Order: sequence, then structure tokens, then C-alpha cells
Amino acid sequence: MRRKLIVGNWKMNGNRVANAALLAAIQSGLDQAACDVAVCVPAPYLAQCQAALADGPIAWGAQDLSAQESGAYTGEVAAAMLSDFACAFVIIGHSERRAYHAESDELVAQKTRRALSAGLTPIVCVGETLAERESGQTSAIVGRQVDAVLAAIDASDLDKLVIAYEPVWAIGTGKTATPQMAQDVHALVRARLAEKSVDAAAKVRILYGGSMKPDNARQLLAMPDIDGGLIGGAALKATDFLAIIQSA
Ligand code: PGA
Repeated sequence: MRRKLIVGNWKMNGNRVANAALLAAIQSGLDQAACDVAVCVPAPYLAQCQAALADGPIAWGAQDLSAQESGAYTGEVAAAMLSDFACAFVIIGHSERRAYHAESDELVAQKTRRALSAGLTPIVCVGETLAERESGQTSAIVGRQVDAVLAAIDASDLDKLVIAYEPVWAIGTGKTATPQMAQDVHALVRARLAEKSVDAAAKVRILYGGSMKPDNARQLLAMPDIDGGLIGGAALKATDFLAIIQSA
């Protein structure tokens, strides 16, 4: 009942010429995808995505937003600005932002509220580091990250969330969680959501991210609580991204 969702996270990559080619290749290869597809691009390219993708099946979104509404926040991008470019999605709390920009659970929760109030679908990222996994803290860390968001939103908004489980040790490393390792954490996340609303938890899409590639996507996406993927490196190559979409 949960339609699969495959999201490309371009990170800080691309330029207008390369983006145009990549978007055109994805569009032309996408023959009636049986899943939802989106690309989350650097903010300067949202207008390009809107122009290229409007009225088509591929949605677009951003990789971050400000927790503030508007005003004197130099360098920040407001939720309303993302809506202005018809974004459907915004990635929030990616581990690269948590690590390099010291984003706390509280800030991630505030940004999630901000996205929801602007009608955007937040893709909230959670995940443990290698040290945390090896010391047996995966459930505690991921549970804490999910709980911070749940504490900040109304139960009626729960089914508007997308969660992405991205083990930090698997991002950009070529190491992927095994399907069972990922499934275990996805089930834990869903159980956490169910404490707020059982019905909504059953509807929330929980994506896996971390070196998802054409050769491992099918097995990951076959797990009962893995509802899609957040794809970094493999989203920059149309053939790889399309192959993952096909696996869903
Ligand atoms: P990766 O990145 O697919 O390159 O590991 C995933 C992500 O960081 O969202």
C-alpha cells in the first residue's frame, strides 16, 4: 500500500549544462515508472528543475531549508522560497549537515515543522555512525533522532513525513547495510512512529540511503519496511538512477 519513492540527492554537484543532460536522460528513460521519483538539487538549480520537469512525473526538491520563516538570516533559504519553485520535497538533517554544520536533533525538528507548515514533504534523515553501530548504540541513536522530530510535530502531520535511514558508515563509501540490517532499523523506526499513531506509521515511507546501487537496490527494496531509496552517487548517472527506479 506504500508506493515506493526513489529520490536522487545530488549533493553539491552539477552545473546547468550537465543538469539539463541528466534530467533529459532520466525523463526519456522513465517509461511509466511504477514508483514515485524525485530529485533534490542544489538551491540555485531549482528553477531549472521546475522548467524542465513541470507537468512531468518527476518531482523536485531541495537539500536543506532554514528553520526561520524570513528576515535577516544571510545565506539561508526559506521554506516559502522552496514552495515558490514548486518543490515537493526537502531533505532535512542529512548526516553531512549534522556533521559539518553541527545540526542538532532540535534544529532538525524545527526545520521539519517549518517544511510541513509550507506544505513541503520533509525527508528526515537519521542514522548512526560506525562507532555508534559497533558499540551497540544504533537503536538508541536512531530512536533519539526520530523521537526529537515526533516531539515537535502534531500527530495529524505524521503521515506527511518521509524518513530516510542512512547509516553514516554506508554513505559514499561503497559499503551498504545488508537488507536485513537495514530492515531491522526500518522496523524500529516504524515502531517508534507507531507510538504516535499506528495508522499514520503504516503510511510513512521509510527510505534507505547509503551506497544504494543498481546491483543491491532490488534486494534492499524487497524488504517489507524499505519503501524506497535516497540515492547519492548513483543519482548522478542516468543509467544507474534509472536502473534503481526499475528495481523498485
Ligand atoms: P550515497 O549517498 O548513495 O552516495 O551513499 C546517499 C546519501 O547521502 O543520501
